[in-house]
Amino acid sequence: MRFYQATTFLFPRSYERRILFVCFGAVHVPLIACVAFQAATGHWHLGTLLTLLVATLVGTGLGLAAIHALLAPIGQATMMLQSIQMGERVAVIPQGADDLVGRLLNGVTTAAHETAARIERLVDAAERDPLTGIRNRRGFLDSAKQVLRGRSNAVLALIDIDHFKRINDDLGHAVGDVVLKSLARRIEDHLRRSDIAARWGGEEFAVLLPDTTLDEARLVMERLRATVALDTGLGVQDRAVTFSCGLAPVRDFSLLQDATRQADEALYAAKHGGRNRVHVLGF
Ligand code: GH3
Ligand code: MG
Ligand code: MG
Repeated sequence: MRFYQATTFLFPRSYERRILFVCFGAVHVPLIACVAFQAATGHWHLGTLLTLLVATLVGTGLGLAAIHALLAPIGQATMMLQSIQMGERVAVIPQGADDLVGRLLNGVTTAAHETAARIERLVDAAERDPLTGIRNRRGFLDSAKQVLRGRSNAVLALIDIDHFKRINDDLGHAVGDVVLKSLARRIEDHLRRSDIAARWGGEEFAVLLPDTTLDEARLVMERLRATVALDTGLGVQDRAVTFSCGLAPVRDFSLLQDATRQADEALYAAKHGGRNRVHVLGF
């Protein structure tokens, strides 16, 4: 470590050049010694000097090229560590032998896997609803931001279970939880892979349907409503559970808040219209 620190002045920003420089000097020692000896004795053997000079130059070239290549994995490992620190995914990490560089690359591999797994766990904890296993509101907004980029015809649906409080009051909170889990599963099973479903909070769910017109969305949600209303397997002793739903178009992610307000109003109208229905304002 002391030699490393003492030589930093040579090339403060390039470890590789420092090693190359030291090797360059070391390779020239025999040539310098030979020149010094011949100068001291006064007997010049030009043939010997020339041979030594050519051999030194060839040796220097080959040595520097080999050291440059041997140091490449260290540079690569450093760049990969920087990527890991910035939270980027490192696709493929080369394997080394059972030596210092191999152990360094193994360390980078472990760090990359552990960091990726930790980030995944953190994102999951932050964006998934622990009860139902689907996205929470934060997860919904994150996904919506990506999905709505560059798209203009999406529809937001807000779903609210009808008289859910009664289920809790009559049958207990645990049964209420089972209903929430079952409905979350039904919603996800009913949607396309590109749709985004989330638990919006309490007994409310949100669904974003990209590339969908209001009419199409109404059909999709109406079909879901009818299926759920006939389903006696949601966890409430032989009884079906119904929900009300409000729809609103979403033109852009920046307008999602407006769409939420509109869908909420439509949901309110659905409740006042008698529940167990899908409503769109203006229809
Ligand atoms: P409405 O048809 O007007 O929507 O009536 P509601 O009874 O569904 O609505 P209300 O807002 O009066 O009640 C919602 C209930 O949802 C109250 C709350 O205790 C319950 N709830 C919220 N989160 C959970 C949960 O995680 N588990 C259970 N079991 N109940 C929950
Ligand atoms: Mg509610
Ligand atoms: Mg409700």
